[in-house]
Amino acid sequence: MKHTLSNQLFLRAQQSIPGGVNSPVRAFRSVGMNPLFIKSAAGSRIVDVDDNEYIDYVGSWGPMILGHGHPVVLEAIREKLGAGLSFGAPTEVEIELAELIKTMMPNLDLVRMVNSGTEATMSAIRVARGFTGRDKIIKFAGCYHGHADFLLVKAGSGATTLGTPDSKGVPAAFAEETLIAEFNNLDNVKALIEEFPGEIAAIILEPVAGNMGVIAPGAGFLSGIRSLCDREGIVLIFDEVMTGFRVSRGGAQELYHIMPDMTTLGKIIGGGLPVGAYGGRQDIMQKVSPLGDVYQAGTLSGNPLAMTAGLATLKELNRSGFYEDIGSKTTWLVNEMRDILEKASIPYRMQSVGAMFGLFFIDQDVTSFADALKCDTGRYKQFFREMLIQGVYLAPSAFEATFMSAAHSESDLEKTRDAFRISIDKIKG
Ligand SMILES: *Cc1c(COP(=O)(O)O)cnc(C)c1O
Repeated sequence: MKHTLSNQLFLRAQQSIPGGVNSPVRAFRSVGMNPLFIKSAAGSRIVDVDDNEYIDYVGSWGPMILGHGHPVVLEAIREKLGAGLSFGAPTEVEIELAELIKTMMPNLDLVRMVNSGTEATMSAIRVARGFTGRDKIIKFAGCYHGHADFLLVKAGSGATTLGTPDSKGVPAAFAEETLIAEFNNLDNVKALIEEFPGEIAAIILEPVAGNMGVIAPGAGFLSGIRSLCDREGIVLIFDEVMTGFRVSRGGAQELYHIMPDMTTLGKIIGGGLPVGAYGGRQDIMQKVSPLGDVYQAGTLSGNPLAMTAGLATLKELNRSGFYEDIGSKTTWLVNEMRDILEKASIPYRMQSVGAMFGLFFIDQDVTSFADALKCDTGRYKQFFREMLIQGVYLAPSAFEATFMSAAHSESDLEKTRDAFRISIDKIKG
């Protein structure tokens, strides 16, 4: 397998783009390789500039739940294209997408469109602060909510601690407003609330963590947080940028029957074009300008092409049996992989929820970021490379989710299973 042209492009890219990439994980640093430059993708397959074809499980990091270049989505965009690209004025398709989102997530009374997941979480937190008149927020170590200043904070190893920034350039004063709790640790959340009574505006979390590998919420975790928020007047924000329309039709809130006060969305709702959204309870969302006094705006927000791609995608998800199909494909593949790992006696944990799953090379349960960090990243690196050679494109990091799409065929899954068997066999020694 040659990567000559990818390597050439990477050298050239580094002359004009920081690190040669426009988002850091794409650089393949944690797997010790140069990134592949992609030429095209269709269905379950992605093709690099050297004409190597892979079965893709990254799916543009989540959006491509229908597979790449779904004909219905492409056709909808083509049709819209002739009418112009952006008007900076309201259009009907924005209402249609908002209405469809509301039917799928009935807890959202009002929805505001933005351009990315980062914008969605940043804005939702501003609204929660404006609504409560409080400044502090609680987030969980290992949960990723985009790169806004006060969200680029994770933890001093699981303990109750004031946040320190993960990135240079984030003022310590901003990070101090972010309190860090351990995922799946309700006592930790209680302790923070007791330490800062009446000061916490919002608790934000990925209801299924997908940015530290895949970690599901333990029994009572989400409902416990829900009750604490009710008692303390704290706004509960589910960041469903990844899990929305991924773990089930109505996201994690539907799957676990826990209703947040606000929800942030992204990835799938843009169908591959840049879209984010945040929404929630009427009384909270009424704070948003021009109804209320929390300012938030966007020149390209609600862009007609992006709305069209999102709308066409969500409509496909509403076909009957969609989630049953994609869920059973995921379960099948995960079970096959488990079987291979058991036979190879390699320590692992595999966790899956709906159409996303994750593999840790580790010999203990993984319920928090601290646990996840103990996994064998060296082994993942070898595994990633072998899978690539076998024609399977996985996330180039041990701490990312793997995404199934509707376009993955039975034969794709069998090929993936066979590639997995060969790769595990190679790295076993
Ligand atoms: C991807 C992601 C974001 C950030 O979205 P961008 O569109 O990359 O800004 C936020 N939250 C979660 C849970 C995500 O997975």
